[in-house]
Amino acid sequence: MHPISIAIDGPAGAGKSTMARAVAKDLGYVYVDTGAIYRTVGYYIQMCGIGPRDVDGVTRLIDEVNVELQYPEDGLQHMILNGRDVTDEIRSPEMSEYASKLSTLAVVRDFLLDVQRDLARKHNVVMDGRDIGTVVLPKADVKIYLTASAEVRARRRLAEFRAKGQKSDFETVLRDIRQRDERDMNREIAPLKCAKDAVRLDTSELTIEQSVAAMKEIIEKRLNRC
Ligand code: C5P
Repeated sequence: MHPISIAIDGPAGAGKSTMARAVAKDLGYVYVDTGAIYRTVGYYIQMCGIGPRDVDGVTRLIDEVNVELQYPEDGLQHMILNGRDVTDEIRSPEMSEYASKLSTLAVVRDFLLDVQRDLARKHNVVMDGRDIGTVVLPKADVKIYLTASAEVRARRRLAEFRAKGQKSDFETVLRDIRQRDERDMNREIAPLKCAKDAVRLDTSELTIEQSVAAMKEIIEKRLNRC
């Protein structure tokens, strides 16, 4: 029996991590937030003073990056960068922007492909990102494309920022989300799109509980068919 993999893709703020984490906990699978891996690589390269579009600079530094994922008792995926826990630092709006630009580079995507596939080879996973069902795990047992309107996603993101005490406003968050959508969907390598064999789930009108229930139903149906 090969390990089971569940691929969840979708745009920023669609609720992928909240839902994927809940589903993984329920199934007893490992939850892998691949956006956090891109952010962690970005954090290192930014600290070295290199811009996210500087291909030579990024290529020079990328082998210095060692990313580990740890799952301590708090149930969160902790990101360890060269031995240091950077889980909180990578969550700023600046790092969202930096990671989004950096992730257009082939050298970064190639570097992270093995890291992600290796996790799916070793564990049953619920993996979320932008290209999981299309590129990273094209043979995933279940693929879900999770989406919601840009306005709903912006409202959810704003609530998250406020809960963490970070200041922002609706217009700024909406503009950032639209810019990231545009970049993630139109980049040359591994753009965000719904895989042909993915089930599309729009959560604009659903609560978190309803979205998680809908997702579980899709997964159960697909796994029972495998
Ligand atoms: O999911 P999150 O918003 O944390 O991801 C940060 C950025 O990393 C995204 O805007 C996207 O550009 C990039 N990313 C990616 N492929 C993935 C996961 C994230 O390009 N599988």
